[in-house]
Amino acid sequence: LGGRISRALQQMSNATVIDEKVLTECLNEISRALFQADVQFKMVQNMQANIKKIVNLEDLAAGHNKRRIIQQAVFNELCNMLDPGKTSYTPKKGKPNIIMFVGLQGSGKTTTCTKYAYHYQKKGFKPALICADTFRAGAFDQLKQNATKAKIPFYGSYTETDPVKIAQEGLERFKRENYDLIIVDTSGRHKQETALFEEMRQVSVAMNPDLVIFVMDSSIGQAAFDQAQAFKQSVSVGAVIVTKMDGHAKGGGALSAVAATKSPVIFIGTGEHMDEFEAFETKPFVSRLLGMGDWSGFMDKIHEVVPMEQQPELLQKLTEGNFTLRIMYEQFQNILSMGPLSQVMSMIPGFSAELMPKGREKESQTKIKKFMTMMDSMTNDGNMYLFFTIIHADIVCLEML
Ligand code: GDP
Ligand code: MG
Repeated sequence: LGGRISRALQQMSNATVIDEKVLTECLNEISRALFQADVQFKMVQNMQANIKKIVNLEDLAAGHNKRRIIQQAVFNELCNMLDPGKTSYTPKKGKPNIIMFVGLQGSGKTTTCTKYAYHYQKKGFKPALICADTFRAGAFDQLKQNATKAKIPFYGSYTETDPVKIAQEGLERFKRENYDLIIVDTSGRHKQETALFEEMRQVSVAMNPDLVIFVMDSSIGQAAFDQAQAFKQSVSVGAVIVTKMDGHAKGGGALSAVAATKSPVIFIGTGEHMDEFEAFETKPFVSRLLGMGDWSGFMDKIHEVVPMEQQPELLQKLTEGNFTLRIMYEQFQNILSMGPLSQVMSMIPGFSAELMPKGREKESQTKIKKFMTMMDSMTNDGNMYLFFTIIHADIVCLEML
């Protein structure tokens, strides 16, 4: 995806004459890539129209950096689309905050409500969990297990079949016991059906939640808009959490969920574990969506693996653009330990995970070790850009084999 967008921008950069047609072609290519990343067709069309209005053909023709102009415009448009123009309710200390989770079965509600509770527990809240999913066998056991691991009190029943009753009982009990973050997990069913939405409506009436969070699996693709809209029509969704961002999905469905619920994304789920949960940040999210890399994520990784005492010097060199091959070499052992190479690559601006074909990671890792040997024979003047160009070329060659 990132590759496709880069290519489209490159082609436009190379064009001698930039006219309406060249711009349209470039935007069409970017649009196709965004559609593949699960951004809704209609939204892609709107974005394209907006960009055509914003971008001035004369600016493009006048030898300015064309790629930068378009890239920036696309980037800004996508950021705007993720901003519903209002913030979400956030739990406040000193009162019981009631939060209800909704979403289809398998979207990650049960996992995410524990992550959410755990997140606020670390901030000094006293959370409690209620399992109002009486539809799926084992739902209560799953919540119980998660809650126990996080040392969070829970409420549910193996025998009661009325979710409204459980929700009410749990709410009363936890209010009485002075819990200040009372979270109710609901059922999801397999598909969007009338009975599910009626149940959500009833639980919501009984709980009167301060916030209803719509949980969305990032891999549901183009279905995101209809799904989010259906929930919004039965309960007053006020925030979105996108799960499974650690998988292959680019998360373009988040834009649909924001549009359909007119609510912001507040967190993303990045794994099955309790702490694989991050506050949502628009810019890094859009960077990854476009395959443009995520410098801040890359920096975080560096913070994780580079010894503390080396960090100030390294970060200064990075920001000055003085990140030489020598420094790269010195850091390489660390970088190899950052995790899957494709993940690291996708965080570097200009590179995308696709550059590192799946199943070739080991091979590529071996290659990089070979590059280190090559680097040994280079002078101190080599720079990181050159180095990555070599890796890039090599991976492209791998692809062609
Ligand atoms: P629910 O039916 O909506 O309650 O969904 P669950 O919480 O039971 O989650 C369904 C599956 O998705 C489980 O196997 C979870 O471990 C998994 N899951 C949830 N969130 C994430 C995530 O952010 N990343 C990954 N990789 N898996 C997740
Ligand atoms: Mg569940």
